[in-house]
Amino acid sequence: MTIIKAVRGTRDLLPPETALWNRIEATARSVFARYNFGEIRTPVFEDTGLFARGVGEETDIISKEMYTWEDRARAQSEKTQSLTLRPENTAGVVRAYIEHGLGESGLLQKLYYIGPQFRRERPQKGRYRQFSQIGAEVIGPPSAGSESPLRDAEVLEMLATLLDELGITGWTLELNSVGSAADRARYNEVLRAALVPVAGQMCADCQRRAVTNPLRVLDCKVASDQPIIETLPKIVDSLDDASKAHFAQVLAALDAAQVPYTRNDRLVRGLDYYTRTTFEFTHGGLGAQNALLGGGRYDGLSDAIGGPRAPGIGFAMGEDRLVLTLQALETAAQTIKADAFIAPIGEGLNPAALALAHELRRAGLRIELGEGSFRLKKSFEAADKTARAIVILGEDELESGILTVKNFSTGMQTKVPRAELAVVLKGPSE
Ligand code: ATP
Ligand code: MG
Repeated sequence: MTIIKAVRGTRDLLPPETALWNRIEATARSVFARYNFGEIRTPVFEDTGLFARGVGEETDIISKEMYTWEDRARAQSEKTQSLTLRPENTAGVVRAYIEHGLGESGLLQKLYYIGPQFRRERPQKGRYRQFSQIGAEVIGPPSAGSESPLRDAEVLEMLATLLDELGITGWTLELNSVGSAADRARYNEVLRAALVPVAGQMCADCQRRAVTNPLRVLDCKVASDQPIIETLPKIVDSLDDASKAHFAQVLAALDAAQVPYTRNDRLVRGLDYYTRTTFEFTHGGLGAQNALLGGGRYDGLSDAIGGPRAPGIGFAMGEDRLVLTLQALETAAQTIKADAFIAPIGEGLNPAALALAHELRRAGLRIELGEGSFRLKKSFEAADKTARAIVILGEDELESGILTVKNFSTGMQTKVPRAELAVVLKGPSE
């Protein structure tokens, strides 16, 4: 029979690596809490139209990466509907913001999420078809201050703090402003004109973008196109005074908070809905897929999907890439050993061993429960691989309440009264 394997581009995460995933998520939750964010969990699939409108037709995600299917009606009252596995989470968060009238409170909404996203990409290191993002959004009516450059700077400062607390050193923050929707439209026309004489020498994608969405040309990764892209007009020259002032204030707040950054006037990002500030954090340890996270301001997104005016700023970090980075920095999780392995002598002692394991686990210890049918030698071998100590439980030990404990790191064998066992196994506190 052929063996069924995990689908291409998907992965099983196994211990001990999952411990690292959990540590990353716990650190993220702790940092987000200190910035007063709350968690949102949106569905893994949504109406296809949400992404088409919210992410933008002329993006790689929409044009070729989505998992979309026609969901058949199950009853007369239902309609067949086009559904899509979410390729990103911002559109879902903004849909929920609109659907639940979260803006009606008049307050800023500060929401974070952690969860799987799906894109049909060419799988390679750091690029998967199911991957996990940790992201956050700050969104609200303009009267709540949602357009303030302080919000952009606070989000960036929070990210710098999160990466530092995760132990990720050596990151780079690149920053740009793509201006207001009007600035972007103006720049698109400037670019379109500049591309007319040169597009013919560029890749097929750029030839198409030069007509449909010239801004996307700046995102091109094809090496031979780069010298041409270098000669194109820069977006800063198309920004109006308000956009320039907004960006200057973001930079001033970052300077005050001592968050280091570099300006990159070609950073336009993959999604169509960005306005003003766009950013990316990269890390050299990742190789070709060097983006740890990306984000930006999306002042027109809510309007674009039929909601009230609700400017916002957010980011999404690739959790898979955080794990790869931490592994490269050699702070990866080691195999965690249990505090003790309980070895019952004979199957008749299995119930008593379960009771002892229960007692110790209740006391907060990590316990591996052995098996009474094992010969003592086999119990010792298994214990040595999985635990820091072995506790032997035979008839005599059960009756006397004095247990034999061998500590593998010191090699010492001792007799310990059952009441003191938990304390002894915990060892001296560090
Ligand atoms: P890239 O240029 O690497 O394709 P992107 O612009 O498509 O990134 P975003 O949509 O901004 O990425 O997603 C934010 C982050 O999510 C990325 O910086 C990256 O860390 C992570 N990410 C995106 N796509 C994948 C994927 N297929 N597998 C793993 N992580 C991903
Ligand atoms: Mg991509």
